[in-house]
Amino acid sequence: MATDHFSAAGKSLNKRLAEKGLRTTSQRQHVYEVLLSQRDHPSAEEVFMRAKQSKPEISMATVYNSLDALVKCGVVRQVNVDRGATLFCSNMSEHVHFSCDDCGKVFDISLKDSPQVPEVDVPSEFQVRKIDIALHGRCTGKCNDCGQKETIA
Ligand SMILES: [Zn+2]
Ligand SMILES: [Zn+2]
Repeated sequence: MATDHFSAAGKSLNKRLAEKGLRTTSQRQHVYEVLLSQRDHPSAEEVFMRAKQSKPEISMATVYNSLDALVKCGVVRQVNVDRGATLFCSNMSEHVHFSCDDCGKVFDISLKDSPQVPEVDVPSEFQVRKIDIALHGRCTGKCNDCGQKETIA
């Protein structure tokens, strides 16, 4: 049964899909629910594994299609870290991504907590629409693996 959280999300999802001329399907809703339930930037394969747990009949192609629709209608965004697989983020508030070089996990960092955007000397013929900031480092204390390495070292 739908929880309050999910029906609220589902309602805006309907609207957003409709705005892009996309249909709301139970699969798309399910994939969105999977992304909202664990906001840890899964890859498409990870979303597929999670989606299958409660919907064993869902196919990889359907998951790809659903992710595509969710990205198109702006409720999910794609995150690319280095040359790794595309990851999916359901946090649509302004934030940047911190990726841990040691464990590979990706964390959301809200913009006001992030280091100052460096002054960039943009030549006048370029018009900046958006700035992508990628933070790299180690997630000391954020994940057990990296936290433990710190105490052992
Ligand atoms: Zn994110
Ligand atoms: Zn880490």
